[in-house]
Amino acid sequence: MAVLATSVRANDERFGENRDGLLALLAEHDAQLDLVRQGGGERYLARHRDRGRLTARERIELLVDQDSAFLELSPLAAWGTEFHVGASLVTGIGVVEGVECVVTASDRLIGEEGEGLRIVFDGLNPERIMSASLCNGVGRYVLGVAAAYATERRVWDGVPIGAHQGIAHPLAIAKIELELARLMTQRAAWLHDHAEDRTAAGEAANMAKYAAAEAAAHCLDAAIQTLGGNGMASEYGVADLWGVVRLLRIAPVSREMVLNFVATKSLGLPKSY
Ligand SMILES: Cc1cc2nc3c(=O)[nH]c(=O)nc-3n(C[C@H](O)[C@H](O)[C@H](O)COP(=O)(O)OP(=O)(O)OC[C@H]3O[C@@H](n4cnc5c(N)ncnc54)[C@H](O)[C@@H]3O)c2cc1C
Repeated sequence: MAVLATSVRANDERFGENRDGLLALLAEHDAQLDLVRQGGGERYLARHRDRGRLTARERIELLVDQDSAFLELSPLAAWGTEFHVGASLVTGIGVVEGVECVVTASDRLIGEEGEGLRIVFDGLNPERIMSASLCNGVGRYVLGVAAAYATERRVWDGVPIGAHQGIAHPLAIAKIELELARLMTQRAAWLHDHAEDRTAAGEAANMAKYAAAEAAAHCLDAAIQTLGGNGMASEYGVADLWGVVRLLRIAPVSREMVLNFVATKSLGLPKSY
């Protein structure tokens, strides 16, 4: 049998430290996996029992064919978050009525009872930041298409249309609005991750969403105008983006409700609704 050579020195101090570190990490994994097997731990089990409900894990056990295996996927998925592993969502592959299925079961109660609105609002700010990011991405894309087109396309005098300020300035204005919106989006994302003051995070998320939706609409409009008739042609893929960009001035929160928020929360004006 071939003997594999190794340069590891098992008596080395650093080797010992690394080994201890890894063993500690494995012990932590084992403890979390125990928690998973208990459906999130005693406190979570008690919560289910008090509500007269089965845990997600127990419901899966009832669903999959008796004596068949259930391969759980990502049991430690929530580890490191405020949610306990094994408590709210179980996903895996099991056999149901002889058919191999991906099975998921979730606890309908997210977090603590009575704290639902806080959790909903914690989800609304990232939704606004993501909407802003989507708008920023569309804005960057269409300005890129428009700038390339305006550099190539020549109409009357042999010079590219981008050399005319009537074409260049709307694109430049849209670019400035877009970059400002991107800065606000980054600020909102940072505040969402780090700010203790949740109103500040909410204010920034609203402002970013407003600014980005407006900027994207202006970028797209300027791009379509730059492409002329081609702006409406599906081959150029610009006008196709109008629906989503226009939607993002309305959803997930309308520009008017953002303005209402800023008027009351940022400026202290009386509430209008
Ligand atoms: C394609 C699409 C997908 C959607 N997806 C989701 C989703 O996944 N989840 C979800 O929860 N919602 C979703 N929505 C709903 C979306 O969040 C709402 O459409 C949006 O918040 C506006 O509400 P509304 O349609 O009820 O309009 P309304 O509240 O009826 O408002 C109509 C108009 O009046 C304005 N307005 C209302 N009140 C005031 C006021 N006090 N001052 C000034 N102006 C005012 C509004 O800004 C708007 O322009 C979606 C909407 C669309 C179109």
